[in-house]
Amino acid sequence: MEVILEFTKAIAAIFLLLLLGDCISTFLYHVPEHVFGKFHTIVHHGKNRNFLHYAVLTRNPFVLLDGLLGALSYFLFTPWLWQLSAVGTIIGLLLGEFHVVWRHVSILKWQTPQSIKSVCDFLFITTPERHWLHHQNAFTAYGDIFSFYDYPAQKWLTFLRVVRRRYRQIHKSKQLTA
Ligand SMILES: [Zn+2]
Ligand SMILES: [Zn+2]
Repeated sequence: MEVILEFTKAIAAIFLLLLLGDCISTFLYHVPEHVFGKFHTIVHHGKNRNFLHYAVLTRNPFVLLDGLLGALSYFLFTPWLWQLSAVGTIIGLLLGEFHVVWRHVSILKWQTPQSIKSVCDFLFITTPERHWLHHQNAFTAYGDIFSFYDYPAQKWLTFLRVVRRRYRQIHKSKQLTA
């Protein structure tokens, strides 16, 4: 009985970590960074980036920083999830890290086997092919780990772009009247 309880807690910790981490990282870092920032776009969407760049395995401090800022969202919840299940928290972080590397293998001409692709589609997990669409067009395929974050992320992106436009208009008219 004890074992089943611990197992359930571990599974819950893994899912919560990945769900919450991807949620915070998408809505508070990734989307706003595409609207207001330049940093992620240059580092993550730049041309001539090799696999190591994308996979955050490089020593380039900016790539590491972009990766770190994205990863921070996953670490935010660890003190709380650690209480739920330490093993689950560790496995969750490892799976998150594994997914970062995996979703960037497209550049190595990787093709996800159809069986794995079907499972991922069923579970709304982002495949390398899907994430690659985001690299090619920064307005599509949000949700680093879970594809269901794409729809709300698109809405959030549109809203923030309106905010940015408004801000620029106000800023411009202020400059004109000054
Ligand atoms: Zn990427
Ligand atoms: Zn992006």
